[in-house]
Amino acid sequence: MRDGNATGTPLIRYGAAVIAVALACLVRLILTLPLGQEFPFFLFVLAVVFSAVFGGRGPGLAATALSAAIVDFIFIEPEFSFIPAHSADTTRIILFVALGVVITLVVDRLRLANEGLRRFAQASGQANLRLQSSEHESVQANEQLQRSQDQMTQAIARLKQSNDDLQKFAYSVSHDLQTPIRAIGAFRQLLTRKYQGRLDKEADELLTHIDGGLGRMNALVHDLLEYSKVTHVDADFFTETDCNEVLRGVLKDCGATVPEASAIVVADPLPTVQADPARLSQVFMNSIENGLKYRSAQLPNVHISAKPEDGRWVFSVKDNEIGFDMAYAGRIFTPFERLHGAGSRYQGSGIGLAIVKRIVERHGGTIWAESETGAGSTFYFTIPASKT
Ligand code: ADP
Repeated sequence: MRDGNATGTPLIRYGAAVIAVALACLVRLILTLPLGQEFPFFLFVLAVVFSAVFGGRGPGLAATALSAAIVDFIFIEPEFSFIPAHSADTTRIILFVALGVVITLVVDRLRLANEGLRRFAQASGQANLRLQSSEHESVQANEQLQRSQDQMTQAIARLKQSNDDLQKFAYSVSHDLQTPIRAIGAFRQLLTRKYQGRLDKEADELLTHIDGGLGRMNALVHDLLEYSKVTHVDADFFTETDCNEVLRGVLKDCGATVPEASAIVVADPLPTVQADPARLSQVFMNSIENGLKYRSAQLPNVHISAKPEDGRWVFSVKDNEIGFDMAYAGRIFTPFERLHGAGSRYQGSGIGLAIVKRIVERHGGTIWAESETGAGSTFYFTIPASKT
């Protein structure tokens, strides 16, 4: 039998019921003098209530049965007999048992309901606490996030500022260096004119070295200036640009640099995009020139195409020449980085792809390359598709 959530072990609960009934019996015996046979049950009702409240359903019913037996045996005529003399007493005993059962069941129900309520209150209290603590945690996390966002915004602003400063510095240095380089060149010419035939062989050789150094410095400063200028690609000046037209112009200019008339440069139909046409032609020019320049024994073959993908155009410039090791692919877009540099037969300063990357990024695109040594390279760059 289930006793709700009565406290204590069964021994204590049933023991308490027996003691309660015994006490009721004792007190009723004492009250026999003034009361006689009247109200034989009322103290036992209290014992049943106590047993049900303290011990639960089992002890309540046990107290009811025990009380009925004791009252019948001791306090109802004839004494010390279980068979009542009057039928009215039999009815009272039955009523008492019924009342005891009802009291026990009601108390048990109340106890269960109470226990349920207590558990509910406890659970909702805990849930409330958890809610409060998670609210607190989320407020803290939010504050932390806000702080990190602020720090990041500040760091980005600082980075942008120092980047801008660096750009301006590179631009003004490369711009200002042109004048002294021109002056050195002019003095070098003056020197030659004035001392022609009067210098020995060694001095002539030194002058040739000066010429070489001067030429290289000039080229570097020129490239650096070009690279710095790309910062000024301004989206406000983008126009609807027909890439087929841009490419036609580039190929016309490229004509002089194509090493053999039989070099093949083919292009699929290209799209019209929002771009700065002059800058875009630099991108095509550099990619195509590289495809023709970094060649092996076979005739250069450059293929230009474009395909739409996720709201952008992916352009590709593919050649069939020397290629490069993909392990170094990340380096080729860095200014002045060359994979085929000093000592190789390929001329260049390593600034071309850095400029191309910058132009593509200023147009909201990205650039990357795929290559295999000896099997050719493909350079990809994206330009956002025009919104129609
Ligand atoms: P440059 O051609 O003046 O060296 P770039 O920035 O255009 O400068 O190219 C950087 C480097 O990338 C080149 O030095 C070369 O090693 C490599 N590279 C570029 N294009 C190709 C290509 N089509 N095939 C093989 N290597 C290439």
